[in-house]
Amino acid sequence: FSSQTPIRATLFPGDGIGPEIAESVKQVFKAADVPIEWEEHYVGTEIDPRTQSFLTWESLESVRRNRVGLKGPMATPIGKGHRSLNLTLRKELNLYANVRPCYSLPGYKTRYDDVNLVTIRENTEGEYSGLEHQVVRGVVESLKIITRAASLRVAEYAFHYAKTNGRDRVSVIHKANIMQKTDGLFLKCCREVAEKYPEITYEEVVIDNCCMMLVKNPALFDVLVMPNLYGDIISDLSAGLVGGLGLTPSCNIGEGGIALAEAVHGSAPDIAGKNLANPTALLMSSVMMLRHLNFSDKAEQIQNAIVSTIAEGKYRTADLGGSSSTTEFTNAICNNL
Ligand code: NAD
Repeated sequence: FSSQTPIRATLFPGDGIGPEIAESVKQVFKAADVPIEWEEHYVGTEIDPRTQSFLTWESLESVRRNRVGLKGPMATPIGKGHRSLNLTLRKELNLYANVRPCYSLPGYKTRYDDVNLVTIRENTEGEYSGLEHQVVRGVVESLKIITRAASLRVAEYAFHYAKTNGRDRVSVIHKANIMQKTDGLFLKCCREVAEKYPEITYEEVVIDNCCMMLVKNPALFDVLVMPNLYGDIISDLSAGLVGGLGLTPSCNIGEGGIALAEAVHGSAPDIAGKNLANPTALLMSSVMMLRHLNFSDKAEQIQNAIVSTIAEGKYRTADLGGSSSTTEFTNAICNNL
C-alpha cells in the first residue's frame, strides 16, 4: 500500500478501560497522520442468533471485509446460551496463529534487559478443541486434536514471520517424547517446513526445558512456535519477563491474511473510567497492525515515540510506577512523534 491511500480498519474499543485506550490510539494515529479510517464496532447488549454471541454478524462482516482490525479488551457477559466473544472471533474469522512479540523496553527496569523474542501459538486445536466427556463415573476424557493441515499452516506462518522480520532462528516447543502421536505430528510438520527455509536455524525444545531456559536466560530464544496449550502458557510467561500484560501487544492471523491485533490484558474494571489505564499494549498492538499493512515508517515512528516516552520516565501511568493519567501519557507520546 502507498502510505497515502486510506485503509479502512475495524476497531472494537471493547469494555472497561477499552474505550479510553482506544481513544489514545485514535489520538496518536491522528497526530502521526496515519492514513487509517476506523470503522467502530461495539459488543451488542443482546445475543445475535447468527453468531450465538453478543458480537453481531455485522461486526464480523466488517473484519472480513476490511481484513484488518484492532480489538480492545472485551468482558464476556456471564450466563449460559452464548459463546465467549474471543472464541467467536477466533472461530468465525479462523484466527489460527496468535503472535506476541516480547522485548525489554529501554529505561523500564525488569529482571532482564535483553529479551527479544516472539511467541507464535497455534490457536485453533490441540487441547482447546472442547471435546471432553465422561467415559464412566469417575473417569473423564479430553481429546487433544492435532491435524497436519493446522500444524503446517502455523509452522509456515512462523517461518515466514521469521524471514520477513529479520529473525534467524525458529524453536518449536513440544513434548513429543510423551505425546508421541500428537506432538510428534506437530514436530514432523515443523521439520518439513524448516527444510524450505535453510537460511533459518531450526531447533526443537521440550516444553519443560523451554520453561527453565526462559527464566534463566530468555536471550537464548528468537521465534518460538508451539501447539495451543503450550502457547497459552509460554506467551504469558514471556510477557512476565518484560513487565507484564499491560505492555504486551499481540496480533491474531487468520485465513486469507486477516489480521486482528489486540492487547492481551483484560478490561481492568477496577480502574475503568478513571483515566488511569496504560494504553501501551493497545498502542503496540496497533503498531503490529501497521506493520502488517506495510506502513513500516508510521509503525516505526509510533513505536519509537512510545519507547522514548517510557524511557524518559517523566510521564508514566501508575502500573509502571508513575502518576500520569492516560491522557497525559498519550499527549507525551504525541509530543515525541
Ligand atoms: P485484567 O487484565 O482486566 O486486570 C488484571 C489487573 O491488571 C487489574 O488490576 C487491572 O487494573 C490491571 N490492568 C490490566 N490492564 C491494564 C492497563 N492497560 N493499564 C493499567 N492496568 C491494567 O484481568 P481480569 O481482572 O482478570 O479481567 C477483567 C475482565 O476482562 C474479565 O471480564 C475478563 O473476562 C476480561 N478479559 C478479556 C480479555 C480479552 O478481551 N482479550 C483478556 C483477559 C480478560
